[in-house]
Amino acid sequence: MKELVVISGKGGTGKTSLVASFAALAPNAVLADCDVDAADLHLILAPDIRRRTEFRSGHRASIRAENCVGCGRCAALCRFDAISETFRPSAGARAFAVDSSSCEGCGVCVWNCPANAIDFDEQVCGEWFVSGTRHGPMVHARLAPGAENSGKLVSLVREQARELANQEHRDLVLVDGPPGTGCPVIAALTGASGVLVVTEPTVSGAHDLARVLELANHFKIQAAICVNKWDIHPAQADHIESAARAAGATPVGRVRYDKAATAAQRQGLAVVEAGVSPLADDIRTVWNNWIGMNIP
Ligand code: SF4
Ligand code: SF4
Repeated sequence: MKELVVISGKGGTGKTSLVASFAALAPNAVLADCDVDAADLHLILAPDIRRRTEFRSGHRASIRAENCVGCGRCAALCRFDAISETFRPSAGARAFAVDSSSCEGCGVCVWNCPANAIDFDEQVCGEWFVSGTRHGPMVHARLAPGAENSGKLVSLVREQARELANQEHRDLVLVDGPPGTGCPVIAALTGASGVLVVTEPTVSGAHDLARVLELANHFKIQAAICVNKWDIHPAQADHIESAARAAGATPVGRVRYDKAATAAQRQGLAVVEAGVSPLADDIRTVWNNWIGMNIP
C-alpha cells in the first residue's frame, strides 16, 4: 500500500482544492484529511459520518477545594502561573484554583500537593471520524479550538486510514497534509511513500518550498512539486522549479489560475468533477505525472 501526502509551505496555496480532484481521480484510495487545525476537505467531499470518536490527549490540573489545605505550594511551584489564590472561605483559610487555559499539564503541582487535592484528568481535545464519501472512505478530524497536540491527531488519522485501507484491500492512502513545517507536518510526512508539495509563484512560496523540501529530504521521502497559479508570475514559477530540481524534487506539472476553481467550489465539486476545462486538464496532468513516478 502506498501513502501519498500533499502538503504546502503555508495555507492558502490551493492544496485542498487539488486533493479533492486527486480524490476523484484516485482509484481505490482511502482519503485522510490531516489538516486537522483547519480541515476543509469535507466541504467538497461532503462526508457521511459513520463513526465518531473522541480524541483525548494531555492532562489539566484542577484543585478539589474540599481537600485543599491552602498551603500554596502548588502556586509557588507552577512555572506557568496557572494557579492563583482565589478567596478566603473563612478567616485564616486560603484557597487556590487552576486557570485551565494557562495550565500546561506538566503535573508538578499534582506530584507536590501534600494533601493529594489535585485531580489530573485527561483532556478531550477534539474528535476524529470515519466517513463515506462519493470517492471512497475518508478519515478526518476536528481539533477543539485552542487545543494542542495536532501532531498526535495527525498521526492518529494516518494510522486509522492505513488500517481502513488494509481492511478494505485498498492500495492507496491519499493524505491532505497540514501546511507549514512544524510538528503536524512532520507527523504527516514520517514514513510516507511520497510527497507532493503545492506552492505558488511568489518569493514567500519559494522560501516555504525550500524549507518543506529540506524536511522531505531529511525523512528521505521522494518529493514532487507543483506550482499552482503559475501564470500569475511565470518567471518565478521557472525559478521555483529550478530550485526544486536542485533540491532533488521533481516538478510534475503546473496548474493555471482559473476562476473554474472557485466555480467548482461553489457547487461543492472538485474541479475535475465540474466539467471539461483547461484547469481540470492541468490537474489531471499533475496527478498522472505524480502517480507515474517510481514511488516505492
Ligand atoms: S498544594 Fe495542594 S493543599 Fe496546597 S494549596 Fe495547592 S492544592 Fe491546596
Ligand atoms: S499541571 Fe503544571 S502547568 Fe498545570 S497547574 Fe499544575 S504545575 Fe501548573
